[in-house]
Amino acid sequence: MLVAAFCAMASVIVAAVAFPEKLNPEPSLPFKLYKRADWKATPATEVEPLSTPVQYVVIHHTYIPGACHTADQCKLSMQSMQHYHQSLEWGDIGYNFCVGSEGGAYEGRGWEVRGIHAGRANSISVGICLIGDWRTEVPPAKQLQTTKELIEYGVSKGFIRSDYKLMGHQQVMPTECPGGALFNTISKWDHFEPNAVLPALSS
Ligand SMILES: [Zn+2]
Repeated sequence: MLVAAFCAMASVIVAAVAFPEKLNPEPSLPFKLYKRADWKATPATEVEPLSTPVQYVVIHHTYIPGACHTADQCKLSMQSMQHYHQSLEWGDIGYNFCVGSEGGAYEGRGWEVRGIHAGRANSISVGICLIGDWRTEVPPAKQLQTTKELIEYGVSKGFIRSDYKLMGHQQVMPTECPGGALFNTISKWDHFEPNAVLPALSS
């Protein structure tokens, strides 16, 4: 197992040297995607795989912390949320991704790790949180646009089904999340599922 891993790594290094463009195989994204290392995440203490492609995308707001308008602010928000969620013994930040008002996307658990954000929908969805309190105020256009583009990116990479259903946290749990103004906004987006009937789950 270990040998195989080293072999795979060695061939990646050889390929990278021979074909330098392979170092960055990702398509250029229309938004900035900050990885966990970029916001100095601490290691997760709980990592459950998420079976992909998922059928659902669940939208959240943070309420607290409030909106962040620079990458530096948003990175601090990610750290504070991770710290808080780890204090709840969730093992990591609950969301799969977050999006800031400046238009940046921030990797939480990522595409392939089950989040803790929507109760029994955790194992069949990706949770995306728009940092801020969106009860009465609509998020800035950049934040909404990046959210849509992040979902499309997830579809293009095969982590989200192309016929996915979009819903707000309040449709699966008793909460006002993602806030009335944001919920009203996403209810007009393609793929919004007003009925949000989740399939019966075994666990
Ligand atoms: Zn929520």
